Amino acid sequence: MGERSPLDTMHAQMERAREYVALDDDTFERLKAPERTLKVSCPVEMDDGHVETFEAYRCQFDGARGPYKGGIRYHPAVSAAEVEALAGWMTWKTATVGLPFGGAKGGVVCDPRDFSEREREALTRRYTEGIRRLIGPDVDIPAPDVNTDPQTMAWVMDTYSTYQGHAVPEVVTGKPLAAGGTVGRVEATGRGVSIVTQRALDYVAKPVEGADVAIQGFGNVGSVTASYLDRAGANVVAVSDVTGGRHDPEGLDVEALRTHVATEDTLAGYDAATEVTNDDLLTMDCDVLIPAAIENVITADVADRLEADLVVEAANGPTTHVADDVLIERGVPVVPDILANAGGVIVSYLEWVQNSQQYSWSLEEVNADLRERLTEAFETTVETAEEEGTPNLRTAAYTTALQRTARAHEVRGRFP
Ligand code: GLU
Repeated sequence: MGERSPLDTMHAQMERAREYVALDDDTFERLKAPERTLKVSCPVEMDDGHVETFEAYRCQFDGARGPYKGGIRYHPAVSAAEVEALAGWMTWKTATVGLPFGGAKGGVVCDPRDFSEREREALTRRYTEGIRRLIGPDVDIPAPDVNTDPQTMAWVMDTYSTYQGHAVPEVVTGKPLAAGGTVGRVEATGRGVSIVTQRALDYVAKPVEGADVAIQGFGNVGSVTASYLDRAGANVVAVSDVTGGRHDPEGLDVEALRTHVATEDTLAGYDAATEVTNDDLLTMDCDVLIPAAIENVITADVADRLEADLVVEAANGPTTHVADDVLIERGVPVVPDILANAGGVIVSYLEWVQNSQQYSWSLEEVNADLRERLTEAFETTVETAEEEGTPNLRTAAYTTALQRTARAHEVRGRFP
């Protein structure tokens, strides 16, 4: 097993939960295998006139509990195996928080930082054309992920709708409000991470007031999380992005950082705090460490040196399975990705429901629903951990997720 293979990590996480779930070997093997992965090539005319062909994927991991659901990412590290692991995590995430969805994920191998707006749009439309045979409002509903945003989703919706001959807003979530999006979706993941972090601090008997928080990743999720935790009274002492990080033991000016990033697109050039590396941030002495970027940042080596009292996974798959062993050994609690960052897909579900009913809810209704679902899932996970004696919260969440998914397979039966 490779430490840095997301699929190996996901399988190891499933294995660990196996002894707590009444699952026969055949069902367990079935749950480990993605149902299908489509690979498409996307030829795109770039601004300089040459045509570049991008490799892209959409994986539908498991659809026993409902339509497939999951984001689309644009990143150089995208691969079939990565997308399959991410689609698996979506399956366990929707099951952990009780949404009537299966799991999916899509990705394009590219570095979108180099793209113009026109190139980004052309790639998105071509990718949507490539996967439109697989997606659909009752089949598979994409959403934003790393390096994609509401505008990207508007292009997906438009391309799909053009083929259908009428507007199909419910084919995708995380859309701009003007194209059928819901209030509260952009902030949902970060808002959810902040809600879960506050519950988790309570769980480890620490007040949120004055808690030192370090956040790796300052994109939509990391920056919104920082904002909400700052407002809740926590001390956001460090944040970082791909260019490096900033540290202030007295607490950073989160809103000033967000303003800087809104105009500059990066933390680079922000000089009102001390510079730190991503490694410094991950191993910094703090109360809560929140990885909010990509996979594999907490390796066994980092887990050994990490000084946080609590880890809350805002990113998908940030902790390798070897690092998990180290953190269990060291007794550092980890709120797993499939619970901690589920706020995004919860509000995606609310968007999809509103679209399906041609109705819209208020921000208060959306936020109250998000809080209730996340809080309930957190309590269930803690109860499972205590009742079953699982080694960590991740295994408790997997226990629930695997049980719910296996049960859906069981009652539906096997075809043919
Ligand atoms: N990309 C987000 C995630 O990893 C959101 C997925 C969705 O809303 O479908 O959970």
